[in-house]
Amino acid sequence: MKPCPKFTFGVGDRFAHGAHAQLRAFLSARKEGIDLTPVWNKSNREHEIIGSEPQQTRDAADRAVADLAWPGDYFLDADHINLDTVDRYLAPCDFFTLDVADDIGEPPDPDEIAAFVKQHPELTGAVAIEGIAEPFEISREDVEQCATLFLRAARKAGMIYRRILEGRGADDFVTEVSMDETGAPQTPPELLVILAALADHGVPLQTIAPKFTGRFNKGVDYAGDLAQFEREFNDDLAVIAHAVKTYGLPATLKLSVHSGSDKFSLYEPINRALARTGAGLHLTTAGTNWLEELIGLAEAGRDGLALAKDIYARAFVKRRDLCAPYAAVIDIDEDRLPSPAAVNAWSADQFASALRHDPANPACNPHLRQLLHVGFKIAAQLGDTYLEALRTHREPIARNVTTNLLDRHIRPLFADLRPAPPAFQP
Ligand SMILES: [Zn+2]
Repeated sequence: MKPCPKFTFGVGDRFAHGAHAQLRAFLSARKEGIDLTPVWNKSNREHEIIGSEPQQTRDAADRAVADLAWPGDYFLDADHINLDTVDRYLAPCDFFTLDVADDIGEPPDPDEIAAFVKQHPELTGAVAIEGIAEPFEISREDVEQCATLFLRAARKAGMIYRRILEGRGADDFVTEVSMDETGAPQTPPELLVILAALADHGVPLQTIAPKFTGRFNKGVDYAGDLAQFEREFNDDLAVIAHAVKTYGLPATLKLSVHSGSDKFSLYEPINRALARTGAGLHLTTAGTNWLEELIGLAEAGRDGLALAKDIYARAFVKRRDLCAPYAAVIDIDEDRLPSPAAVNAWSADQFASALRHDPANPACNPHLRQLLHVGFKIAAQLGDTYLEALRTHREPIARNVTTNLLDRHIRPLFADLRPAPPAFQP
């Protein structure tokens, strides 16, 4: 197992042209005392939509690290892979997000459930957890129900982990287990059962991405009950610390927030929880990068702005198709989408203001933003035209990419946190 640093941050580089500008944000953060490790993550779904290979993301990251003399660790995440898709990630990646969401709810053998319940008497009754005021009251039926929901997923995680181990021939990577792309959020007691099951299956996971309460729509802020989120997040931290001690999971195990980009209103409660407990965090905000590319193109004016408008017009026409795979994670009011004709008349500033995620700016349009967030397929279809524009307008794009990461994400999330190794104090 390669130890996962305490604070890791997932960035997306869909078109493999953004790594330098992203790394500059991490370098600036480092100078400010924020010890943060970049993880370039790109899901199998994104690779398929774009038609790219994981090695391209690896090459872009390696080049940026060499060119800018990045002194720390960095990782390449095979994001949301499973047994069918993991193989082409084995060589270039060193961080694997095992997506077992599809196996949630697939009932295991009744014998397996019975064996699990028998093996884990500590999960039944009043389960006291340091850092949570009231013990969980968990009945035998609760454990059985939870085992029914999650045992198959835990078994599958074990299978994927061993496939990676065999394929790489060495235990030199970080393992994450993700369950975020599923119907119902997982409660803290469910998380405890899941961690027990993953330990049973020998998965040395260092990060786990549950589905949290509330809506995590693509590219826009969190929509949900903030107080409830904060309670759950704090309880999850306590459950993880408890599971590390009880089930021998890696001491580096931490929560992973697959944010779907830009959950700004969660950053304060998360920062508060990390400061209080000393816990680590992995947070991914991949899609926001491609939107900063579009903003940079718009700000470049002339052909850059024309290309950004063209991409919007095409995305508008194809909106149903583009949105279909993301239906569970977007809320677009079609009446709030400007017509391509209206957008064509916009200045660079109007385009950038509509797209840029500045909640204080009344011109910011979350509907347009969500559509473009899932619209990267359009840019992929433009092929060299898009890539050439990224090179031509490198400067305004880089400025937006770096500023966005540093000002809107890294500083609010990680400022004033202790860089020391994890030490949980409730
Ligand atoms: Zn995810």
